[in-house]
Amino acid sequence: MKQTLIKGGRVLDPETGIDGVMDILIENGKIAEIGNEKSKIQNPKSKIIDASGKLVTPGLIDIHTHLREPGHEYKETVESGCLAAAHGGFTAICCMPNTEPVNDNQSVTDYILRKANMAVGVRVYPVGAISQGLRGESLAEYGEMKSAGVVAVSDDGNPVMNAQLMRRALEYAKGFGLLVISHCEDRNLTANGAMNEGATATRLGLAGIPNAAETVMVARDIALCELTDAPLHIAHVSAEGSVRLIRDAKARGLQLTAETAPHYFSLTEEAVMNYDTNAKVYPPLRTDRDRDAVWQGLRDGTIDVIASDHAPHSSVEKDLEFDAAANGLIGMETSLPLSLKLVEMGLLSLKDLIAKMSTNPARILELDYVGLKRGNPADLTIIDLEKKFTVDANTFCSKSRNTPFNGWELKGKAVLTMVRGKIVFDDR
Ligand SMILES: [Zn+2]
Repeated sequence: MKQTLIKGGRVLDPETGIDGVMDILIENGKIAEIGNEKSKIQNPKSKIIDASGKLVTPGLIDIHTHLREPGHEYKETVESGCLAAAHGGFTAICCMPNTEPVNDNQSVTDYILRKANMAVGVRVYPVGAISQGLRGESLAEYGEMKSAGVVAVSDDGNPVMNAQLMRRALEYAKGFGLLVISHCEDRNLTANGAMNEGATATRLGLAGIPNAAETVMVARDIALCELTDAPLHIAHVSAEGSVRLIRDAKARGLQLTAETAPHYFSLTEEAVMNYDTNAKVYPPLRTDRDRDAVWQGLRDGTIDVIASDHAPHSSVEKDLEFDAAANGLIGMETSLPLSLKLVEMGLLSLKDLIAKMSTNPARILELDYVGLKRGNPADLTIIDLEKKFTVDANTFCSKSRNTPFNGWELKGKAVLTMVRGKIVFDDR
């Protein structure tokens, strides 16, 4: 019997409520026992991982990433994306369907999963397209994709502009037990905007994107969620109005969940003052007021999940004038340290943070394992909360370098990532 003993770490699991110094015994890839340090868990045959002074949590799950394979392997491959995930402490990631070809059918889903099986071992949960080719005209084959292994559908990168199609998507997805993830954007309001609309955009001479480009679609999708009684997840919430709408809808009991990304609570539009295209994202970085609303949304549970929206681009797409540069930044290797700042600022407890990065995504995706329970697969992350480091994109496992956080001094990072009892990253 293959055994591993993780000894003496502070085990923190929002799912079971465990928080204390404990040992975890792993047998054949599964959690066999969790107990106090002086407990019966003592086996000289076990491989020992000394976790003393460290935090041991259920494996982190990133519900929103973009791997660029198939089609744009020069930006990221399934393999490089999985390595980046492992280094960031993630044991599982969802990947959006805007590849080339689009993941709107079984063969692309199969391809991604085959590549994932050959990679480091991080679990990959593909998200299928809502509409064929992400064109917003007709629905993709949800049954076919579901049996191939997709866990949700989204046209992420594109909004579903047609409300009737979105209604049908919610109804159809519900029938297959698939979550719909909405990229909320009204393309007519976005127009040619390159950054947040306001005084800063005027000063920089850039066309702006109003908050309403996001909030009108959040409002529409909430109405459709209510109409169809189907689960809906709102991606990358960035605007004050969106937080307010989601809070109200949740209070009415809708099956609504939401995520934000570290850049929306770490940065504001000031980050593009020097035309740094690494800070060009969609939705755009907004104002202090929006960032404060995102903080409040995280704090009061309106926003369930922190996801990286890891979006790799090469210098070909980024080293351009601001208007012409692609949207998106990479985030899997900085997501946890940036999120830990929320704990340091007193905005979130450590337990709430781990819930937003692990157990909440697991519940939303309806995974058949949640948290550190006996019998569950041994997916876990060991975090050194005291480890200080300087972000250096050149050391990233991602193939791309588009991060606005380069040079930032951060504290706290994953030092070991384990999936099904197998160590996929170890930097103790
Ligand atoms: Zn999106």
